[in-house]
Amino acid sequence: MSFFETLNQTIWDSVKESIYAKNEQDVLKALSHTPCNLEDFKALISPAAAPFLEEMAQKSLVETQKRFGKTIQLYAPLYLSNYCSNSCVYCGFSHKNNIERVTLNDKQILEEAKAIKKMGFEHLLLVTGEHQKEAGLSYLKRAIELLRPHFVQISVEVQPMDTKDYEQLIQAGLHAVFVYQETYHQENYNKYHPAGKKADFRYRLETPDRLGKAGIHKIGLGCLIGLEDWRIDIWNVALHLTYLEKHYWKSRYSISFPRLRPNAGGFQPNMEILDKELLQVICAFRLLNQEVELSLSTREAPTFRDNVFKLGITAMSAGSKTEPGGYAVHTKALEQFEVSDQRSPQEVENMLHQNKYEAVWKDWDKFM
Ligand code: SF4
Repeated sequence: MSFFETLNQTIWDSVKESIYAKNEQDVLKALSHTPCNLEDFKALISPAAAPFLEEMAQKSLVETQKRFGKTIQLYAPLYLSNYCSNSCVYCGFSHKNNIERVTLNDKQILEEAKAIKKMGFEHLLLVTGEHQKEAGLSYLKRAIELLRPHFVQISVEVQPMDTKDYEQLIQAGLHAVFVYQETYHQENYNKYHPAGKKADFRYRLETPDRLGKAGIHKIGLGCLIGLEDWRIDIWNVALHLTYLEKHYWKSRYSISFPRLRPNAGGFQPNMEILDKELLQVICAFRLLNQEVELSLSTREAPTFRDNVFKLGITAMSAGSKTEPGGYAVHTKALEQFEVSDQRSPQEVENMLHQNKYEAVWKDWDKFM
């Protein structure tokens, strides 16, 4: 049994119908208890909850401070390679885009790491395109081994792997894996992912199962907001989270909310989400789950990030470069997407201080 079977017990159109049928009474019921359940979650992300956004935000703020205090963990992505065998229609790194391709070597990785470390970061997210030869298991293992002495936590957002491969990376010092399903709409998934290994919906969907079996510390989930109706995709993320927590209770979980951004492919979102709707989603997740990490990246504009971070968020990237070599090596590689919040990590930290929040550069240290 994996999440694939669980997902197959749900019908996209029925979930959609049930979310859009929620009314004021359903929202009030969802707001009357914490934590709410998956049925309540439908009400909280439905159009019927829009007039209750202020109430949701206040509840979410209280629940977040209860568990996390006034802290935000900061991290930075280090792009190691923009080679990719997939051709996702919304991504600048797509195999089909004729761009400069780069994979950092050991020396370049360490130069980039030094620049990131100098900014104060202790949490590092390694990112690559999905390319077996350029950025496969041995390359990633080597990168983690190189970087582990310099950072307390190393996470990756790379190609999905088998359980035994994850076990090797955990052994090398891997802390967390972020793997986004992009969309849970099984029939339409291949419209966006027509070729390469990523075209295998089931293999990608079962990746968090394999991570749980490998005993990873933290698993990051999400969907790419803008492909399909975000309400149904977001509900499926919540279903996925609930399933995983039940089956792999030793792992922690993180949810991200990537919205489609302009990129080299020029893909336009099929359905946009408004800022206030994204806030609604963030608050709904907090009311569903008080333990989960909620993360907001530099894809989002500074004003939005500054306005909503207190209302459920617990982790933020800062000073991000989304091209390999972006911090120090300065290759000619193209960025994966345009960063919206261009502020330096120190500027983000200052903003947090002004709001009486603490920036957490180092969460905890694993005794090695
Ligand atoms: S989204 Fe990921 S897998 Fe798809 S083309 Fe971009 S880098 Fe490759």
